[in-house]
Amino acid sequence: MDGVLVHENHLVPGADQFLAELRDNDIPFLVLTNNSIYTARDLQARLKHTGLEIPVDSIWTSALATATFLNEQRPGGTAYVVGESGLTTALHEIGYILTDSDPDYVVLGETRTYSFEAITTAIRLVAAGARFIATNPDATGPSREGILPATGSVAALITQATGKKPYYVGKPNPLMMRSALRRIGAHSQSTVMIGDRMDTDVIAGLEAGMRTILVTTGISTPALVEQFPYRPTSILPSVAALVGKTKDPFAP
Ligand SMILES: [Mg+2]
Repeated sequence: MDGVLVHENHLVPGADQFLAELRDNDIPFLVLTNNSIYTARDLQARLKHTGLEIPVDSIWTSALATATFLNEQRPGGTAYVVGESGLTTALHEIGYILTDSDPDYVVLGETRTYSFEAITTAIRLVAAGARFIATNPDATGPSREGILPATGSVAALITQATGKKPYYVGKPNPLMMRSALRRIGAHSQSTVMIGDRMDTDVIAGLEAGMRTILVTTGISTPALVEQFPYRPTSILPSVAALVGKTKDPFAP
């Protein structure tokens, strides 16, 4: 989502035409984000505000991927959550009970209101044996004023205190791609991952067996690509370059 379709609250020029063409050609798609703050419904409203009409069912967050993972691993379980409504709603929807009393998991997500008390509780529960899960490994997130500490940074704090590392479900874990593919009934061989980051989007798509397109409207630049031991299938200046080519994005 961010760096590909939108920049914060601004539309990437041509992203609306690109999505319209996917719809016109009946090409199934999901919009992915590692951010676990918002529910799909919240994100739909935010995207609509920037000028993109995207169905709720076409939005896939690291919070939804985490809930799907936990539902498969331990259905009907319990969790202590440090996070926002995107994560708590996703866990409630799979029938999880949120508790600080001997939970199966401590689940950490993105939040803007970290409390010393909540982190202390998380640390004590992880130290006592609760399994440690985090929605995404991003160390920082963007804001207009500069970088913000993100889930990976708070996870590091809990790891330092307990000696336990979390299992991250979001990108670059290809698990997030596989759950997304299942969600739209797609096969990796006939699916393309479009992203703006080599270290999360491209590697996750690659490891899930998909072809990948790096767009340079976000974090990674063409020069940066050469520093990685892997490459995307192709590099484009923007999703706008895919307008008119959605049926065969790799045609010369
Ligand atoms: Mg991005």
